[in-house]
Amino acid sequence: MHLEEMKKEINELVLEKGFYNKPEDIPKKLLFAFVELGEASDAWKKGKSEEEIAEELVDVIFYVLDASRLACSTINMDEMFLKKLEKNRQRTYQYGEEHRQKGK
Ligand SMILES: [Mg+2]
Repeated sequence: MHLEEMKKEINELVLEKGFYNKPEDIPKKLLFAFVELGEASDAWKKGKSEEEIAEELVDVIFYVLDASRLACSTINMDEMFLKKLEKNRQRTYQYGEEHRQKGK
């Protein structure tokens, strides 16, 4: 399933369940994404199963895509993913293991 398909599924779920669905709810949805990141971190720290950690990470994706439906509805997220991936590939080497070694 691609991001745009996921957005459609999320849209249906939001309407079906009566979840927040207005532009003013965008900050709330982004905050929920942070909360879910915290839950993922907590699950990892507590040694929970990979499935439980993955479930929390999917919650993050859910809220990010849900926010994107409202915040940038004209943007195709699959195309944006590829565009950003290419942009990141073009970046000069700045972070990562080599950067960490220099800090020591
Ligand atoms: Mg969760």
